[in-house]
Amino acid sequence: MLLLAGVAALLFAASSNAAGAARSLFGGEKVACSKLKSRYPDNTFLPGTSGYVYETQEPYWSATVYSSPACVFVPQNAQQVAYAVTTMTLTLAKFAMRGGGNMPIPGYNGIDSSGVLMSSSNLTTLSLSSDNSVVSVGSGNRWRDVYAYLKPSGLAAVGGRVGHVGVPGLLLGGGISFYSSEYGFASDNVLKYQCVLSSGLIVEATATNQYSDLFWALRGGGNSFCIVTRFDLRPVEGSEVHVGIGQFDQSQAVGYLDGVYNFGKYGGSDPKAAIIPTILTFPAANLTVYAAAKFYNSLTDNAEVFENFTPPKLVPVADSYTLQPLSDYISATDALQPLGLRQEFRTLSSVVDREAVQLIHDTFISNVNAELPSVANLQASITFQPVTAAFLLHSAATGGNPQGVDVSRAPYFWMVENFTWSSANDDAKVRAAADVITAKINGLLRAKVFSAKYLYMNDAGKGQPIFQSYPAANLRRLKAIRTKYDPLGVYTKLMPGGWKVADA
Ligand SMILES: Cc1cc2nc3c(=O)[nH]c(=O)nc-3n(C[C@H](O)[C@H](O)[C@H](O)COP(=O)(O)OP(=O)(O)OC[C@H]3O[C@@H](n4cnc5c(N)ncnc54)[C@H](O)[C@@H]3O)c2cc1C
Repeated sequence: MLLLAGVAALLFAASSNAAGAARSLFGGEKVACSKLKSRYPDNTFLPGTSGYVYETQEPYWSATVYSSPACVFVPQNAQQVAYAVTTMTLTLAKFAMRGGGNMPIPGYNGIDSSGVLMSSSNLTTLSLSSDNSVVSVGSGNRWRDVYAYLKPSGLAAVGGRVGHVGVPGLLLGGGISFYSSEYGFASDNVLKYQCVLSSGLIVEATATNQYSDLFWALRGGGNSFCIVTRFDLRPVEGSEVHVGIGQFDQSQAVGYLDGVYNFGKYGGSDPKAAIIPTILTFPAANLTVYAAAKFYNSLTDNAEVFENFTPPKLVPVADSYTLQPLSDYISATDALQPLGLRQEFRTLSSVVDREAVQLIHDTFISNVNAELPSVANLQASITFQPVTAAFLLHSAATGGNPQGVDVSRAPYFWMVENFTWSSANDDAKVRAAADVITAKINGLLRAKVFSAKYLYMNDAGKGQPIFQSYPAANLRRLKAIRTKYDPLGVYTKLMPGGWKVADA
């Protein structure tokens, strides 16, 4: 491995722009594809094959990120990932890494014909230790796989609230879970990362071993450090929960927003409770609807905690809240998730204030309707994700993470704006409007001192200053850890897609 690293260093040094040199000097991606194809013929897909078509489209959430790589490599274990990374490094081939494919930013989980796409589809390990204390999850799993696997043991994991979401991307950005008020970020519940360093070395990082700095960086630092092939997670009690979605019509908007504010402010008093309040607007139909996924981690309900979303305060047009296995809820809601549409995210963050909730709601709805009336099949939503002090305190108590969110100003709302449409002709228009709307809301939040510093990576749009929202000392530490484990910048320059600490 050392020899390979030395050769790679010479190749990198031969050019001031290694990634550019990959194409012009070596045609690195073609060489890499041919080496991968000859060594792992069944796991390497070339254009025109059904495996290639599947891997470049089907696993993705947004059609904006389908890509056309020189080839797709689908490793079956960490050793094959290591071989591929070493091959990319020696051939100076650019590459991308894809987990569940939910990040809706073009080029962050895919690559064009100048590079190789590495897919985690085959990294599907799932095993539970005999004492139920560790669940080992290969990075090709989605959260629905994890919940379904743990259900017979009466366990769950601190993970995604939508089943299609991939395990690796969510955990590398932190991860907001139904269980977060009880257990913090999803990444706070990772016990061990198995990952492939840029040298090709396969290591296991824990909070206390020689890779404890890498362990800390992976709890929210993104994909600049290594390719993670397995996450060992701490399972939690609670596969049978109260969960479901209440829906409300436009006439109840004020009461609904009161409920959102109240849950944000006081919902943390019971850490077993969580909500996902989402407001959806459809400009073509001049319609806005209000929904709230409600979750309570107990066999016994606590009606009081959601009283602002139930009669007599609010009368839902439908409400599916009931005691059920989490995995059943996840399967049912997954079936409602459309794939193959065009999607864009933006993230926002504020302290919890009733005026702020109104201002965000009004600005979002009026501007979406003003900016995007003619975009075919446009729907836009804003979700207020309540983040309690308990959530953040739990993170601090389990060794901390790079996000370093300021607990003293909690609770917060971390919001995600989601724009959905159908035609590529409208991409530029929607993205420009998303930027304008986000800037307007941010401007208003800043003027009223409602804005909060931290921006959640996994809900962000391209260009949002994610790592700049982390404490400066944490960002410096992330950069130093990146340099230590990837001195050549393989996971930054050769794998350019994703949120990179070096760019912040
Ligand atoms: C419908 C929907 C629901 C969501 N719900 C939630 C939620 O409940 N909670 C929450 O916190 N977030 C949620 N998100 C956001 C989600 O966490 C991010 O989109 C996340 O990036 C998805 O992970 P993925 O593996 O599917 O992504 P991918 O797009 O595959 O990957 C995301 C990034 O991680 C990198 N990466 C992937 N695999 C690896 C690996 N093995 N090693 C190193 N880097 C890797 C990729 O290169 C890419 O840059 C949701 C998103 C969607 C679209």
